[in-house]
Amino acid sequence: MTTPLPRSLDPAVGEILPGYLLRLAHRLSVQPLELGHLCGLTTGPVFPARHLVRLNDNQAQRVADACRLHPAEAHALTLSGQAPGYTPLRIDYLGRHQSPVTMANDGWVLTAFSRYCPDCLSDTAHLPGGPVWQGSWRLPHTFLCERHNRLLAWQCPACRGPAFSNGYRSDGRWRPTQLIPAPAQRLHPARCRHRPGAGRVAACGQFLDQSSGPPLRPTPAMTHAHRRLAEAATAEAGHEVTSLGQRVSAQWFFNDVRATISALHGSWPLAQDAFAEFGSMDTVAAHVEALRRTHREHTGALGDGRVARTFGHPPADTLPAATLMALTVTILDDPSGHHTLAQFLSALPSTSTAHIRLRQHAPHCSPAMTEAIRGSVRLPRKAAGQPAFFPQPPTHRGRLDPRTIPAVLPEHWAAPLDGLDAPRRQLRRDAAIRLVQMATGRSRRSAALYLEIPLGSLQSSTVTIRAWQKHPGNAEAYQNALHRVAEIAIAEGNPRGASAR
Ligand SMILES: [Zn+2]
Ligand SMILES: [Zn+2]
Repeated sequence: MTTPLPRSLDPAVGEILPGYLLRLAHRLSVQPLELGHLCGLTTGPVFPARHLVRLNDNQAQRVADACRLHPAEAHALTLSGQAPGYTPLRIDYLGRHQSPVTMANDGWVLTAFSRYCPDCLSDTAHLPGGPVWQGSWRLPHTFLCERHNRLLAWQCPACRGPAFSNGYRSDGRWRPTQLIPAPAQRLHPARCRHRPGAGRVAACGQFLDQSSGPPLRPTPAMTHAHRRLAEAATAEAGHEVTSLGQRVSAQWFFNDVRATISALHGSWPLAQDAFAEFGSMDTVAAHVEALRRTHREHTGALGDGRVARTFGHPPADTLPAATLMALTVTILDDPSGHHTLAQFLSALPSTSTAHIRLRQHAPHCSPAMTEAIRGSVRLPRKAAGQPAFFPQPPTHRGRLDPRTIPAVLPEHWAAPLDGLDAPRRQLRRDAAIRLVQMATGRSRRSAALYLEIPLGSLQSSTVTIRAWQKHPGNAEAYQNALHRVAEIAIAEGNPRGASAR
């Protein structure tokens, strides 16, 4: 049992662990690192940044005991707790296991720094312990503050270091990230913790709750994109959003967003010409040029795999990020957006990193996006789309527990299947088999045996459902529905999804 602290704090709405512990440390007049020790989150001089994303149950219990919270409140102080629909936070992402290091390199979760709204920091300065750092500021699609109608800031106006960060090394790479930078220094939570020099220099200390000039205002397209992305990120299992004219899961939507940005980056400056009226395109151009420069410098040293992952992340700076996200959502909002995408996709050289990236992404995108990619870039057959007799890849390994899947699906799990015009009993049996395959990677026959479905019943389902799948659109609609059933099953099997692992 962890000893409760003499005083604690109620978490503010939208707050996550780094900001919460910073307020608490300030209130108790202790070092953030010392508080980290008391909460059982660290034992040495480094405060691991991975706690930003998720806590295991043991860690959540210790934080809850120390801070006088309920364990569910401790889980809610993580990004996984706050953005269940945002796929880049998943342990299994785009068909691979994601470690905290790959997540940091990927650039789709801002683990090394935080954007911020100076006006929000100022508005919450009166709270016990100081102002609130919002968790959503760590997600690259959060680029504006609706309350204050302004783009977020990301750098300290005094030292120009990224806010809430340990900054860069002299070679331009990030210094090792920590949950709270300079964790041994006691500083007011509104002050910049970046240490501009080398060695043990003091943190900058600039107050970040003071605007350093007139704020940048978002365009209506940026505000719209921001709302669409926020809605999908906070979506619970079973919630659907629109992408390329189809209703899809939030997970597919975010994979479509990433694929679109890869296509835009890879084919740049095609989009600059096609959407010339969009404004601020020059800032995106500068970002793409910087990515290409870094890519050229590192290609030799790192080899394809790592570069393929690190290429194409969204900009840290909010103006190009807002422009790029607004452009992406405009394309995905358009029911015929696949025609626009096809122009960009077909311009990609087959050896380009964007091409490699899209080949990896294709099976994880919505059916319309997969189709757009398949039609425009040459893909190995197995990576592209769902032909009528699609095999079922292990897309949910590590998240969906096969032990929770019954041979006969419960009524409320099967709800997404009910909209399909297929033989009901056979479809449900087929879906149970496919769920086991999604969870384990077993063959179809082995998955049926796992569920103790007799081989005769397997055969009759196969014959019936395959005949139904042949009709145009059925295979895509089925795959879409299966994906939603899986999300419901995960939410039910484990109320916090992957965050408890
Ligand atoms: Zn604000
Ligand atoms: Zn600073």
